[in-house]
Amino acid sequence: MDLVVATRDGLYCPPGRFHIDPWRPVERAVITHAHADHARPGHGAYLAAAAGEQVLRIRLGDIPLQTLEYGRAVELDGVKVSLHPAGHVLGSAQVRIEYRGEVWVASGDYKLEADPTCAPFEPVRCHVFITESTFGLPIYRWPGREALFGEVNDWWRRNAQAGRASVLFCYAFGKAQRILASVDPAIGPVVAHGAVAAIDDGYRRSGVRLPPALRMADVADKSTLRQALVLAPPSAQGSPWIKRFGDHSDGYASGWMRVRGNQRRKGVDRGFVLSDHADWPALQRAVDATGAQRVFVTHGSAHAMVRWLRERGLDAETFATEYGDEDDGDTGDLVAGADET
Ligand SMILES: [Zn+2]
Ligand SMILES: [Zn+2]
Repeated sequence: MDLVVATRDGLYCPPGRFHIDPWRPVERAVITHAHADHARPGHGAYLAAAAGEQVLRIRLGDIPLQTLEYGRAVELDGVKVSLHPAGHVLGSAQVRIEYRGEVWVASGDYKLEADPTCAPFEPVRCHVFITESTFGLPIYRWPGREALFGEVNDWWRRNAQAGRASVLFCYAFGKAQRILASVDPAIGPVVAHGAVAAIDDGYRRSGVRLPPALRMADVADKSTLRQALVLAPPSAQGSPWIKRFGDHSDGYASGWMRVRGNQRRKGVDRGFVLSDHADWPALQRAVDATGAQRVFVTHGSAHAMVRWLRERGLDAETFATEYGDEDDGDTGDLVAGADET
């Protein structure tokens, strides 16, 4: 029996009578993480990882939420369900489903790279693995963490020395906190846009240690802004809020910056290849580590991924989903504080 099927409302577990990250309102939803395309309002009941409770509530408010520690199991209509770290953002989880000796795992979004702001991806053995494939093409390979943040620090330092702010556009939830936790705070102050600061607060309430980031209103001496690293969502590009920094350099942090031309299309001075999704080699490592013989591929470059899996003798097919792509930055970064323009 298939433990997860694709329906019009989202992925569904028939014996357990629950959906996973449904895109239409349902009775019972298991949520892999709080990004807007996976965690939507209007469900009758929510189950999510305890580590993500604060950020989930920032996005969805007072929802009927049951939380679960990573690795602990609950029974939903006789189906055993547990959540395991996906390494994507704070509280992100893979959903492990066990029923009559059969184990399925739905990954949600994930990455294998180290990230100081969330629990690392945990490989979970299963018969069937449902994987994302946002960057499922061989061209997508991420630079190492040291090299990447070295580049960001160098850019920021040079701008600070020249007396201009460094405005870095990045997704407000996950990416911004990872950058804040990884750059060199000795270079200058970090200023967070309201949309970023609201999520920063949620991370701090969840026990994640982040270096300080100032809100604009807290900057007493505006001349210090010329040495600042400014973290802002892509939707703030060209806004009056950004204009307050005067002459500045701007950059964009996204996995899509791996492709030449995207930096120019975004109209910024610098592109930094930074993603909270697995790159091509990591997708392959993750699938291998599950030991699954059957794989479903959801959003992203699903067809290339399916072809690769079939070449390896696996039973692979796609699941049509309505998940977006927060790495693109143009969707779903509407959170409390985003009205700061
Ligand atoms: Zn996501
Ligand atoms: Zn996603």
